[in-house]
Amino acid sequence: MVNLASGTSGSSRMIVPHCTDPLIGNILAGWRYDISGLSPAMRTDYDQHLTDCAHCRRRQHLARTIDVLLISVSSLSILAFLLAAAVLHRIEAMAHFSSSLHGHVYHTPVTISLEAAAIGGVIISLMLWVLVAIATPLPGLVSDALQQRIPPHIRERIMKNAA
Ligand SMILES: [Zn+2]
Repeated sequence: MVNLASGTSGSSRMIVPHCTDPLIGNILAGWRYDISGLSPAMRTDYDQHLTDCAHCRRRQHLARTIDVLLISVSSLSILAFLLAAAVLHRIEAMAHFSSSLHGHVYHTPVTISLEAAAIGGVIISLMLWVLVAIATPLPGLVSDALQQRIPPHIRERIMKNAA
């Protein structure tokens, strides 16, 4: 009757899985859990570790989610700025049209500068998009996924044609 509490403490709490092999786990973390650029011979150990280690699998999933989020946000911001530039351009054209109808032409520097800002926004978000595409393994992952979708015999033919 001495160890009443020992059996209940801790066991009911949700256990956060730890890395089963911190050495490989640290290398994977350094690569942001991206092994898509490795040669098939080199990545077997890491693939094995990702299969075995729930901790690293979770971190890899998180890293890829962030990558997808980043590329989505920068794509959306390109679209938003493009739309803003188009709308402002339209407003500017309409202002010109109506002012020329009334006989006195006056420029609207406010819409012009807003349009310039919107175009600047497009350029900046395009640059961001390129940076995200370079920094994340998404292009590699996409081409990996495409290659896996191509049937092996067609893939072989493509490889032969390329060689
Ligand atoms: Zn691990």
